[in-house]
Amino acid sequence: MKKLSGVVVVVLLAATLAFAWTFTPRPLPVPDAPGPQLPPPPAVRATIAVAETGVLESNALFAYRGGGFEPRPFGMDVFVVRHPQGTLLFEAGFGRHLHEHLQSVPWLMRVLSKVQPATPLDAQLKAAGLPPERLAGVFLTHTHWDHVGALQDLPGVPVYLPRVERDFIAHGGEATALLRSFGELNYRLYDFDGPPYAGFAASHDVFGDGSVVVVPAGGHTPGAVVAFVRGADHDYALIGDQAWQREGVDIPAEKPWLSRLMVDDDAAGVRRNLVDLHRLQQANPRLLVVPSHDRRVTATLPRLAPAQS
Ligand SMILES: [Zn+2]
Repeated sequence: MKKLSGVVVVVLLAATLAFAWTFTPRPLPVPDAPGPQLPPPPAVRATIAVAETGVLESNALFAYRGGGFEPRPFGMDVFVVRHPQGTLLFEAGFGRHLHEHLQSVPWLMRVLSKVQPATPLDAQLKAAGLPPERLAGVFLTHTHWDHVGALQDLPGVPVYLPRVERDFIAHGGEATALLRSFGELNYRLYDFDGPPYAGFAASHDVFGDGSVVVVPAGGHTPGAVVAFVRGADHDYALIGDQAWQREGVDIPAEKPWLSRLMVDDDAAGVRRNLVDLHRLQQANPRLLVVPSHDRRVTATLPRLAPAQS
């Protein structure tokens, strides 16, 4: 009996050490060759502004391998992209019914995080002179619950998704349960009908002038995308949850095992994307890589301002 309990203690100790190891620093290997260049700046530029829909309290430990225990507010931020042909949202963040929506969230996620809503997105948009009927559409970097909540408050607005991500809503388990619960939205499916772009295999040029280009970057979810927005002073790569915090791209470093287990569909795909984004960032000094949830990055972008009356 004594021998058996000794074995149990050793096994538990080994499991604890192995689990702790999954949080330790482990930079991803980066090839030596220079990264790809973005195409030359297009003639027409887009502008970007941020609307904050709330915060999920977390910490660096869960965001990337090697992160410490310091608290990190994960911003639920929406990017308002204005272009002469129309205004788009990228992401939809938290909605008005956040606490109801939380019931659909994986329990471990609920236990590990505390949420704080901000002014509802639809109210912020209305104050900025952007009621739903004035929006050309919402692009989602992927369909997880924390990126889609406010779609419920923007009835009828077109929701743009690549085909494979539209299919993922049906079989994405708890992570896409919230979007499933919204039923049939005004989905518009798009294909990656354009050439390779910035090292990614294909592209979809939203306005046809190179100012807003979406590329396939599956991994976090099968149809996850990265959106490039070409502005006057900066180019932006809206990378969704490829990395939860900028260190994921800067180091580059993947999420620790527990986080990957909870949220990443294909960890190898995310690793490839992180290395590609790291190299792209190094080769393009004008490019700002923007993880959806890193407030230290999104706080540097212009805010969505109320319309002048
Ligand atoms: Zn996600």
